[in-house]
Amino acid sequence: MISCDVRQKLLREYSDAAEKLVPLSKELANVALSYEADMFMRIWERFRNAQQRCEHSRRALDFHTACHGCVIAAPRGT
Ligand SMILES: [Zn+2]
Repeated sequence: MISCDVRQKLLREYSDAAEKLVPLSKELANVALSYEADMFMRIWERFRNAQQRCEHSRRALDFHTACHGCVIAAPRGT
């Protein structure tokens, strides 16, 4: 694997974003049991934003990797 600073940065952003999803999804599960609709919607919005950030980072990472070729492609059966 070619070492690449940009890729490192994008990877870190992605894992940060993914980490933030975990506590939010737990919060969401808790509030879903509590029948507090307003609270649920508020946390749901935060969860959705975090999820979008996560997806965005993931896509940026994939895009960079594809363009830059800084990861050796998985071997394909020929
Ligand atoms: Zn790269």
